[in-house]
Amino acid sequence: MGACLQKTTALIFSLCWSTLGWDKTENNMAKSRFEYVKEYERTDRLLPETWIVIRVDGRGFHKFSNFYEFEKPNDERALGVMNDAAEAVVRAIPDVMLAYGDSDEYSFLLRRGCELFERRESKLVSTFASTFTANYMHSWSCRFPDKPLQAHHLPTFDSRAVLYPTVKTVRDYLSWRQADCHINNLYNTAFWTLVQKGGLTPQEAEGRLCGTVSSDKHEILFSEFGINYNNEPEMYKKGTILVREPESEADRMEVGNKLASGELSPRQLDRLLKKKNVQVKKLHVDLIRDPFWNERPWILS
Ligand code: ATP
Ligand code: ATP
Ligand code: MG
Ligand code: MG
Repeated sequence: MGACLQKTTALIFSLCWSTLGWDKTENNMAKSRFEYVKEYERTDRLLPETWIVIRVDGRGFHKFSNFYEFEKPNDERALGVMNDAAEAVVRAIPDVMLAYGDSDEYSFLLRRGCELFERRESKLVSTFASTFTANYMHSWSCRFPDKPLQAHHLPTFDSRAVLYPTVKTVRDYLSWRQADCHINNLYNTAFWTLVQKGGLTPQEAEGRLCGTVSSDKHEILFSEFGINYNNEPEMYKKGTILVREPESEADRMEVGNKLASGELSPRQLDRLLKKKNVQVKKLHVDLIRDPFWNERPWILS
């Protein structure tokens, strides 16, 4: 009886094995028969030795900010959520040397020699958009416990990659974004002051500002409402910069000096930066003029 059971068990096992083996061969054949479709994929390796900038931007945030009743013109908590999400991206992706953001957008500057995902554009833009979105939602739940996110009103972000071939074009790109932040913020500050403090309707405020230049808006704010625009919070006027840099002033100087004397190869710079306890720092300063870059030569080296 025992022997009979053993034989039957062995037979079942061998049948299973052969069935599985047969399936495997079949599956492999099927797989290779279908696999040609992979050739339809577009190669999208980005040009080497150029700086990649990836910009994420909130989709329909005009509506999103109305739905969640953001304070106008600037909801500080919402900007905090953006900054948290960007910081998480910078920490998750060491190739990011600097990030700049305002409103519902963030730009991420990857180091020139970046080989992440073999520089495949679709991998890069999708990873940045999804990592940003996931962290945005996570941070939202911490900063807005009173306003849980609602289905059909969830935050989503698009993302694009742009290549810049020179230090000048990288700097001009970032200057463009910071100038945009300034222009929008000045307009929005004047607009919402006219509405909230001046009692104008949005249409009237728009009409009032139509054709005005920067100095006119400063003047309206100052003479009619006693607001000195220059005293507005730096984060609103300049946006937020996240930058990798050694924590101590001495280490920053050392890296800067070595770079200036041409002592460091890119690999040595990488190694040195790793050793120097590099932190992600948050700044609200001018990045259009030279000092910011002169103090941090490793960003574009
Ligand atoms: P698109 O999908 O084309 O990007 P959008 O509605 O997101 O459209 P944007 O040009 O990206 O338009 O502008 C984002 C809008 O979100 C701003 O104009 C502003 O109204 C709002 N917004 C974003 N962040 C804040 C904030 N922290 N405080 C107040 N409003 C904000
Ligand atoms: P990459 O970042 O290159 O995509 P990956 O780790 O995501 O790397 P994939 O080839 O995408 O690798 O495979 C996803 C892996 O995740 C699977 O091999 C499996 O181990 C695991 N996985 C995904 N979904 C499930 C699931 N529902 N149950 C168990 N394991 C899962
Ligand atoms: Mg948007
Ligand atoms: Mg935007």
